Amino acid sequence: MHIAVLAGDGIGQEIMVEALRVLAVMDLPNLRLEHADVGGVAYRNHGHPLPPETVALAKSADAVLFGAVGDPSCDNLERHLRPEQAVLGLRKEMQTFANLRPAKMFPGMEDASGLKPEIARTIDVVIVRELNGDVYFGEKGMRKTADGLREGYDVMSYDESEVRRIAHVAFKTAMVRGKRLCSVDKANVLETSQLWRDVMIETSAEYPEVELSHMYIDNAAMQMVRNPGQFDVVVTGNLFGDILSDQASMCVGSIGLLASASLGEDTKGLYEPIHGSAPDIAGRGIANPSAMILSAAMMLRHSFAMEAEASRIEAAVADVLAQGVLGHDLGGQASTTEIGDAIVAQLTGG
Ligand code: NAD
Repeated sequence: MHIAVLAGDGIGQEIMVEALRVLAVMDLPNLRLEHADVGGVAYRNHGHPLPPETVALAKSADAVLFGAVGDPSCDNLERHLRPEQAVLGLRKEMQTFANLRPAKMFPGMEDASGLKPEIARTIDVVIVRELNGDVYFGEKGMRKTADGLREGYDVMSYDESEVRRIAHVAFKTAMVRGKRLCSVDKANVLETSQLWRDVMIETSAEYPEVELSHMYIDNAAMQMVRNPGQFDVVVTGNLFGDILSDQASMCVGSIGLLASASLGEDTKGLYEPIHGSAPDIAGRGIANPSAMILSAAMMLRHSFAMEAEASRIEAAVADVLAQGVLGHDLGGQASTTEIGDAIVAQLTGG
């Protein structure tokens, strides 16, 4: 288990310490951690937010555990030298094309959600978002119309192989959950979406146990707040997934509780909390390490097929929340270390 540990900037450093403490008590065979700089700290130490040594380590490791990047002192650098470019570069170098974001309500945390508690209680969904295609990566530019008006354009496209590979990730995700997959598109208007829908239906023949449904993005956005409990796994393209995954995660409440995985063709993956480096609270010891710890659990599940260990960590995080050990993001007083201590104690029976 060779893991590249890229803690990054701000609270990334603080929350990574707690995730590594959790991994240390899990009795993992042949665990080997190798650290490297990424983000603003890498720019200061090596002149680039994603130095070649870091890329080489990420590619040679079995999985990458990533904290967060972002440093206000780098805000005036040229775009390619800004810390945030490191995560985009890493995803590209590692050829991860599927972003998995679970959004599940932890019992007792319903009041942290913007939804009514009885609705918030029902959320337990994984959004599978395609990461490498769609309108973000199509031809784009600025031009002048015949009338001399400025016109911006971005071409939306997917080829069928790109849709098929994300479809397989989504169906496999559904197979180990509730076996229900909702594909979100805009097939009533977009040709790209029609192809997306056709390929989803074709791929479903290989997963007869999974119930496939389809929903237009506008309806899905509405249903995510009206009745989120209806969703098990949702699969969607890059643009719709960008919006829908943020929406789903905010239905859960604190950003400090939400993990994510970016996966490619093999078991290697990049695991990170969905939040950033939180410069407003960095260095104060009050960041919630739960999202980082839950990202480590996702790593055990997806890169190392350690479902039991992943579930144990997730249960320990849920138990600690239920005991009322809450960080300031959830209206409590517990420090980063105290939350880590409580999760470690839960796992070790201490
Ligand atoms: P952010 O996610 O860092 O913080 C948003 C708010 O949530 C802040 O008030 C912060 O204090 C709070 N918060 C975030 N994580 C928390 C945690 N674990 N515990 C308690 N509170 C938490 O977003 P931002 O402030 O918009 O961005 C800060 C920097 O992070 C920027 O440079 C941005 O570009 C970068 N960023 C990086 C990533 C990434 O590394 N993948 C993602 C998003 C933003």
